[in-house]
Order: sequence, then structure tokens, then C-alpha cells
Amino acid sequence: MSHVLAAVAWPYANGPRHIGHVSGFGVPSDVFSRYMRMAGHDVLMVSGTDEHGTPIQVQADAEGVTPRELVDRYNRVIVEDLHGLGLSYDLFTRTTTRNHYAVVQEMFETLYRNGYIVAKTTLGAISPSTGRTLPDRYIEGTCPICGYDSARGDQCDNCGNQLDPEQLVDPRSKINGETPEFVETEHFFLDLPALADALNKWLDSREGWRPNVLRFSKNLVEDLHPRAITRDLEWGVPVPLEGWRDRNDKRIYVWFDAVIGYLSASIEWARRSGKPDAWRQWWQDPEARQYYFMGKDNIVFHSVIWPAILLGYNGEGSRDGKPGTFGRLELPTEVVSSEYLTMEGRKFSSSRRVVIYVRDFLARYDADALRYFIAVAGPESNDTDFTWAEFLRRNNDELVAGWGNLVNRSISMAAKNFGEIPTPGPLTEADEALLATVRAGFESVGALVSKHRQKAAIGEAMRLVAEVNKYMSESAPWKLKEDKERMGTILYVTLQAISHLNTMLTPFLPHAAQRIHELLGGTGVHAPMPSIVEVEDLDDGNTYPILTGDYTVGARWEPVELPTGRPLAAPTPVFRKLDPSIIEEELARLTS
Ligand SMILES: [Zn+2]
Repeated sequence: MSHVLAAVAWPYANGPRHIGHVSGFGVPSDVFSRYMRMAGHDVLMVSGTDEHGTPIQVQADAEGVTPRELVDRYNRVIVEDLHGLGLSYDLFTRTTTRNHYAVVQEMFETLYRNGYIVAKTTLGAISPSTGRTLPDRYIEGTCPICGYDSARGDQCDNCGNQLDPEQLVDPRSKINGETPEFVETEHFFLDLPALADALNKWLDSREGWRPNVLRFSKNLVEDLHPRAITRDLEWGVPVPLEGWRDRNDKRIYVWFDAVIGYLSASIEWARRSGKPDAWRQWWQDPEARQYYFMGKDNIVFHSVIWPAILLGYNGEGSRDGKPGTFGRLELPTEVVSSEYLTMEGRKFSSSRRVVIYVRDFLARYDADALRYFIAVAGPESNDTDFTWAEFLRRNNDELVAGWGNLVNRSISMAAKNFGEIPTPGPLTEADEALLATVRAGFESVGALVSKHRQKAAIGEAMRLVAEVNKYMSESAPWKLKEDKERMGTILYVTLQAISHLNTMLTPFLPHAAQRIHELLGGTGVHAPMPSIVEVEDLDDGNTYPILTGDYTVGARWEPVELPTGRPLAAPTPVFRKLDPSIIEEELARLTS
């Protein structure tokens, strides 16, 4: 057993999440965490909503609300969506907690003391008519990289590049259209070049990473520049230095505070559990493993920037130094990135309505139907396309006709003919062979999940489902009305195989797994679920909803013998067959 940190990318709190968001990191990180817990590891799965930065402020301005009101709204929406999918976070929190602010400031102060944060004079914009600082979001102009004519002072929303306001071609104030004046101002920069050698050494020591991620990261390290970590902005974590702490026009840049969320959420979880030092087991034990889950657009933050922050905090760059009050922190074991999901051949786009939000999806379909689609056809290692026709096919032909039907007809037949799990007579070679084949799945499916090959893992589990279906057809227990002992034996073998397969499918289909466990006469928790709990900020502040749960209960990753004689009732279907008319309906929604 070991300690395993599942650090899941933080959804940005400027709107509800669509299924593209959750297919990249949400569901895969949950499948991994559930499996690792079942296999006996001590997992800490953390994340939260990312709530600072210019886009939140801009949207709040547009809606005439405060940034705080905006993030309060979307934090709640996102918590409910992730809950609906059954994502088993130990803690899903947010970046506007006092705890998070304190952890970010501790990281900043230590990096500063160790010499890895340096002050630099840069050009900042002021309004010529008022003489006041013009925050980055109020400056617009043409992107120097892609030519988009409404790029913002901190970022181009068209090409996604980070910008400085003075790089904009033809800059103008969004408030009154005047041309801003650029004057010298001071900002803080993370001195990445001073951490490049240490980063390179660390990257060279990584094993098992996807080769493209490693190559991409090494290329980035070849060409590192100091990176601004403060901005002219009011919404964010204050800079914790003398003369800066109380300024309301300079804040820590959102990307710097968001990656620190993995650590602050672990600390918050420990404080809430009453063992305030418990987080150290995942962050300071060299035997512990840390897995980070994200979409490919975020690789740089997890494979280069966050490790650089940790190295600087530990005092392990070219300027040396000493760890801060937390002590030395471990760097990521592995960065698990996914590719993109598109929708009916197009990029997801809320503004163009090429989108389906998680809550709308869950209002019409079951969470496990989506979880199945993501596992079997998601963007694990290639960009993939979600189409309603393919969703329907996967659901009806594989989930319902393959797995659901096997469960349903076997339990029905056993309930009808025996009313309980039948006691088997002597097992034939074919019976023994089937059970051995299925039991071997614990090894093969488990190994694939632990290597982040979930598509292959569920493919293997479904192959075993097909084996059991084949066994059932070939043994034809329905023809054995005159030979009750043999019929009971075949049904026992089939139910036993179903029980094993249900355990193997639990990380992927936890809601269905719980129901099948109960249909087999089982009681208690088989697949633990998260709950939404309303909590007080630990250090004074607003109350907010968190996702958390007790995941120490439930099935283990091992074959368990079914107790013969346990009562069985006639089952109701576990999965819903979908009518082909949903395709037209959903496509009409997409384009309306
Ligand atoms: Zn651009």
C-alpha cells in the first residue's frame, strides 16, 4: 500500500462545465482514484474551482455583479455537476478560501526569500485623462501574434497566448477609447532560468510518461524566461510583501495561485479531517506518488511551471535556498494529460451553442452512460469526436445489449427458478475455465488502469463480458428444466462471473455497480459516492459547498465468492435503452 495523490485540474468558475471538460480530466481521474483505492492504496483526490483572474472580473463587470457573486454562483453549479457524475473527490474546494490565500502567500514569500522571485520594472498602462492605473482587462488592441483585433492586455482569447499590454498593436482603453500611456511600474517575476537545470534533471529522471509530454516539456525548458506572477488587477491574492500587501491594484496572477491549489486543498482536507499534518503523507514521503490529471492545453503548468515553483520553494535551483515552513515538497510523479473532445465534428463553443452542459446531459441521460462513453471512446490519447449517433450506439449495443442484458437475464432466471443464488453441483472444465478467465481480469484490467490506459482496460472488461455471454448461450441453462442441478450450476457460474465483472467495472460505472451488487442480494456500500457538504471557511469567511466522502468502504479489487442461498428478487433493468429519436432531438437543440 502506498499514498497516492490524484491532483485533478481546477475548472474555471466562469460558467457551467460541458461534457468536453469532464471527459478530459474529470472522469478519468475518478476511474483511476476509485481503482487505486479498491486496490488498497491510500488515495487523496483533490481539486476545486479556479476563481481568480481577468476573465472572471470581465464577466462580472459585464453582468453587473461582483467577481465574488459570479464565482459563488458557478462554484455551486460546478460542485453539483461533478457530484452528479459521481466523482469521488476527497475534497473539491475553491481558490477563494482564506486557507488557499495563506498557502499561496507562504509559497510566494519562500520563493522570494530563496531568490526565485525577482522584481522587475515593466511598462504599465495609465489613463492619460485621469492619471490612474488602467487594469489589463480594460486595455484592448490587436494581437501581435495572430492579428485578432480584440485581444486583451493580458491574453488573446483567439490564439490563447499570454500578452503584456504594451505588446498590443494599436492599444486603446475599453472605458473611453483613449490611447493608454505606458509608464514604468514594478512587477514580480518567477525566475524560471534559475530553475532550468534542476527542471531538466528532474525531467530526465521521469519514467513512464507519455513520450510526447516529456518531449514537449523538455523543449519548453530549453527556452525559459522569467515569467510575470503579478498583474495590474484588483481580483486575486494580495502580494504578501511589505508595501504591497495592502495595495488593491496589484494581485498575484491567477495561474500562479491556481496550481498551488493542489497543495492548499490537501492542507484544507487535512485540517477538516482533524489531523492537520495528514497532508504531509502525500507531499513529503518520497515513497508517495503524485498523479496530475489535465487537458493537453495545461501540460506546461504541470510539467514545468508547478515543478519549478516546488523546486524554488525547496531551495533546489541554481540559487539554492531553504524550504519554507511546510518543509520540502515532492514533485509530480506523473503528468497524465488528455486530448480534446469535439462535438459533432466541431469545437465545443458556448457562444455558438455547440455544447451540451453536464447538468443538461444528466437531466436526460444516466451518469454511467456518459462515463461509459468517455471510458470507451474518450480523448485519452487522440482527439475524439462525440456524436449523438455514436453515444446511442455505444449505449444500446454495448452497455445495454452486452452487459445489462447479461446481468438481467441471468439474475431473472436464477430468481425465477431458485429464488436465491443456487448451490452448484460439480463444475465442468468449461465452468472452471470461464471462472479462471474472468478472474484473470483483475490482473489485466487493473494493470491497464494503473498505467492510465483506461480505454484498453474497459475494452478488456467488456471482452470478458462477451466471454460470459458466450458461455451462457453455449450452456443454454433455459433448456435444462429437467436437470435442475446442472441448470443451477451454470447459473451459479454465470452469477459468480457477473459479480467479478461488476467489481472490475466499478471504477468506470459506479452507480450501476452499486445496483448490480444489490440485485445480487448484496447489502451495504459497494461503490462509495461523494456528498455535497456546506462548510464554514476554516479561517473566517463565507460558507461554501464542498464535495467529499468516505471512500474507505466498498468493494476491494479482488474476487469474492458469492454466498449460495442468498435470496434473489426479479431484477429491474440497470441501464436504459435509448430511442433513436434522441439523435434528431439533440441535433436540433445544438443548432437552434
Ligand atoms: Zn492572438
